[in-house]
Amino acid sequence: MHNTDLLTRSLSSVWHPCTQMKRHETLPLVPIQRGSGVWLYDFDGKRYLDAVSSWWVNLFGHSNPRINAAIIDQLGKLEHVMLAGFTHEPVVQLSEKLRELAPAGLGHCFYGSDGASATEIALKMSAHFWRNNNQPEKSQFISLQNSYHGETLGALSVTDVALFKEAYGSMIFQNATVPSPDTRNANPEESAEDFAMRCAAQLEAHLQQHHSHIAAFIIEPLVQGAAGMAMYHPSYLTRARELCNQYQVHLIADEIAVGMGRTGTLFASEQAKITPDFLLLSKGITGGYLPLSVVMTTDNIYQAFYADDVERGFLHSHSYTGNPLACRAALATLDIFTSDDVLNSNRIKASYLNHTATPLREHSKVSHFRNTGMIWAFEVDTMHKDFAQRCFSFALENELLLRPMGNTVYFMPPYVITENEIHFLIDQTVKIINSLT
Ligand SMILES: *Cc1c(COP(=O)(O)O)cnc(C)c1O
Repeated sequence: MHNTDLLTRSLSSVWHPCTQMKRHETLPLVPIQRGSGVWLYDFDGKRYLDAVSSWWVNLFGHSNPRINAAIIDQLGKLEHVMLAGFTHEPVVQLSEKLRELAPAGLGHCFYGSDGASATEIALKMSAHFWRNNNQPEKSQFISLQNSYHGETLGALSVTDVALFKEAYGSMIFQNATVPSPDTRNANPEESAEDFAMRCAAQLEAHLQQHHSHIAAFIIEPLVQGAAGMAMYHPSYLTRARELCNQYQVHLIADEIAVGMGRTGTLFASEQAKITPDFLLLSKGITGGYLPLSVVMTTDNIYQAFYADDVERGFLHSHSYTGNPLACRAALATLDIFTSDDVLNSNRIKASYLNHTATPLREHSKVSHFRNTGMIWAFEVDTMHKDFAQRCFSFALENELLLRPMGNTVYFMPPYVITENEIHFLIDQTVKIINSLT
């Protein structure tokens, strides 16, 4: 198949996600034939540096030989078996491994297939816990302003995105939001930590008043991804943990985007020294290979469901729950963290990128240049309403896959990015910003 052939056939048969399809009358789809490391290649051999890790999922490059080998090995043994009434080695090994690595106390793993289903599972489990605990009135949730926890109806109910709320508001249940500790909103003289504590005080006021009806507080630890990589001080999480304990409200850490080393520690919650009641993982957990999500929770929650009657049990399942191929990809991914000392090597790469990015940080059209672990973001001063679209297209012409959110440009590269590739990423981005401003 050739580029153009694939484009026309895709547009006539595939409905692409979160896309106004009519836009593709003028904006061509990007056909990809193969990937290797940080690079994606189209059918004409043109390459693109995947600076967004293919929607934040890829960790160790495309077509990684070690993850490939693990999946191929598993294919020869068992591709899938249902997890109700059955079990298999990869899912047991993965659950034990995650328990060993995660903040202490998260000993039980419940599996789903994607991020949104992990959110659904956590919300249902939390409310069902309170029901089993004779407090059925605790059935509401709170989230941060500009939160994002997925796009199925339950997940949308704790997602604060105006566009979605307008389109689907009549179908979702309404939940309150509390102010985001997004450091960009701090007063000029205020430290990130002081601002975080000021926002935590507003959380406290809300909990004080409404806790008797609140099941859980769901939060993206350290970085609110879809809010435009809004970063905040870990002390907010530490304080949120204290408040949730005090007011008997579960804390759900949605680490779907920020887990698996993205923020510099394997789990973002570690930086606040907290154990959430639920920890959600997806995206990078399989290295970006296969759909898999997991909800990790505590023995206290698990025990509230452990009884003789069926209706006290957790009523939830997906056909592909705990798929062996996906679990093997996840195990291979975790092995790479250990064998390549990834967290340390990322620290070196991050400081190299920060150093290399000086021309960007000091650029007259760039503000709020920020970094947490292997995530970078900054705002571009432009009057163009369609900046994101223009930047995306212009980046492609310059061998770069960037996908700005509004005026926010971000980098979330695969961890295998090399020093040369970091230079390429920064040089091309400076060139793109210069041309567009
Ligand atoms: C991507 C994402 C989700 C949803 O995951 P999907 O696999 O796209 O359903 C939920 N929460 C956060 C923080 C995410 O970044």
